[in-house]
Amino acid sequence: MDTLRRNQYLQAMGVDVWVSRRPAADVDRAGAAAAVEAVAPGAPGVSGGSAARAPAARSAVETAPAVTVAAASAVPSPTEARATADVPTITTWESLRSEVLACTKCPLHGSRTQGVFGVGNRESQWLVVGEAPGAEEDRRGEPFVGRAGHLLDAMLKAIGLSRGRNVYIANVLKSRPPGNRDPKPEEVAACLPYLMRQIELLRPRVMLAVGRIAAQNLLATDAPLGRLRGKVHHFGELNTPLIVTYHPAYLLRTPSDKRKAWEDLKFARSVFQGLNATL
Ligand code: SF4
Repeated sequence: MDTLRRNQYLQAMGVDVWVSRRPAADVDRAGAAAAVEAVAPGAPGVSGGSAARAPAARSAVETAPAVTVAAASAVPSPTEARATADVPTITTWESLRSEVLACTKCPLHGSRTQGVFGVGNRESQWLVVGEAPGAEEDRRGEPFVGRAGHLLDAMLKAIGLSRGRNVYIANVLKSRPPGNRDPKPEEVAACLPYLMRQIELLRPRVMLAVGRIAAQNLLATDAPLGRLRGKVHHFGELNTPLIVTYHPAYLLRTPSDKRKAWEDLKFARSVFQGLNATL
């Protein structure tokens, strides 16, 4: 990406653009070297990718020294969630969507305007996962709309992604928690199988978890977001690489962290490019 375009994207995200004292080529080389190192098997911060791990989601944080299985026990793992909710084997997007829109598996169905299934290209190699619908999403039936949605779109555009073209966006919860409170564990347990089925249908090459709630539930940990960023986790039986970054609503409240989010996005892009390079 040329410097002018990159700066335009950064400005769209609200990230201040600084001029490096180092020649641009050096900066790019350093970034490329870090990217290669990050996706190399055995490199620091990269989990190994063995399907033999159990449960797979928990093992994804094995390279974070302070993250332990004990710490993860407060949050139901995707496997546990699958066991606690009865989602029949649904093999098509439309039947799964219909199931979600008619779902009454947890009390949130009583307060929502509508279920929010997901949006984007169902052939995408990228999956973005957020927390739950907010008021605007509940009203419009689409994840990440309004100001936070605009910022997410700008963030994705900065790494060449667009919800209308090459990324799919979904939430852990498909119905809005009242007052935008955090999802309850039993709500996540009821709803997560829908996301798991979406992942099975999509089979993304890279996942981006935005925000603490999404990251903790996907990785079955209660580690703080700051300890989950900057690593390649692996999700599910396919060991899909998963990167963690901030939720755009948080970034609207804390714009000083936008630069860290930009680092996360560049990291995610480098992981994706590394995957393609090994094909
Ligand atoms: S949050 Fe999920 S499980 Fe609960 S009613 Fe909505 S779709 Fe069903």
